[in-house]
Amino acid sequence: MARVAFLGLGIMGAPMAGHLAAAGHEVTVYNRTTAKATTWVQRHGGTAALTAAGAAADAQLVCVCVGNDDDVRAVVLGSDQTPGALSSMTSGSTLVDHTTASAGVAREIEAAASARGIGFLDAPVSGGQAGAEGGQLTIMCGGTPESFAKAEPVLTTYARRIAHLGPAGNGQLAKMVNQLCIAGVVQGLAEGLDFGRRAGLDMTKVVEVISAGAAQSWQMENRSETMIKGEFEFGFAVELMRKDLGICLAEARRIGARLPVAALVDQFYAHIENRGGRRWDTSSLIQLLATD
Ligand code: NAP
Repeated sequence: MARVAFLGLGIMGAPMAGHLAAAGHEVTVYNRTTAKATTWVQRHGGTAALTAAGAAADAQLVCVCVGNDDDVRAVVLGSDQTPGALSSMTSGSTLVDHTTASAGVAREIEAAASARGIGFLDAPVSGGQAGAEGGQLTIMCGGTPESFAKAEPVLTTYARRIAHLGPAGNGQLAKMVNQLCIAGVVQGLAEGLDFGRRAGLDMTKVVEVISAGAAQSWQMENRSETMIKGEFEFGFAVELMRKDLGICLAEARRIGARLPVAALVDQFYAHIENRGGRRWDTSSLIQLLATD
């Protein structure tokens, strides 16, 4: 069993840290909004620290799951006023970042960590809230083989699949591939479902049969029912998907890749945000078709 710090107890981080405690690891948590950390400790045991640096001191493994690049910098590198996790971590320990962020920030954090003898993995996840709660996430890792070997036995407590994909940044690049594949699929599913409804088909029956064929997808399995009902107040928020697509589009410019569909879907999500759907699930793309 390991001494683990978990920084960021949001929709994803809280259940992930819960799996660590349930597996018997010695867990210290930190959350910017302290009340969430207090509630977490009441439910799972362990200890709450008031700062990221306080939680990370003495930990063998420090896991982070916050919002975006700047949040990772704030929690890990800190500022003049508030020291970050790296300032208190000891040589030989390992930092694992589960945030979906850019490959650039992963390389930046790895450089800062390795200067202090600390290992680093960028380790974004896929599987959503349900995957985090069920301990069934997919984790895409970038970093040295040594860092991966140290972190993997602990990460298995909330993962069903973990892959080491190369140096720091490669976990984030793989997550970009994941998000790009999802963007087009959700729009295709939205168009198919709306077309069928307008054609007068019983779409529940249609989905039942076509989901056994070549059109099958995670989105069809897990989102078509709520898309047909027009329910979107759950799941993976449109604003987070726009953050991810923004990262993909910036990386594409850097490497010379073309992303015409992702750029278009990003604009569709901008329309959803204008309609008040910032926190709606990404399957809300169908709203734009259904209400036109
Ligand atoms: P969330 O519920 O909004 O939680 C974000 C967490 O980060 C909160 O604990 C928040 O603290 C903390 N935080 C944000 N900015 C911070 C800062 N500057 N300093 C310190 N703490 C900060 O988000 P989430 O859904 O758990 O997502 C976390 C990450 O996982 C994101 O990168 C997201 O893209 C990725 N992800 C999410 C899903 C999903 O289905 N939700 C799926 C895969 C990947 P407070 O409580 O104080 O706000």
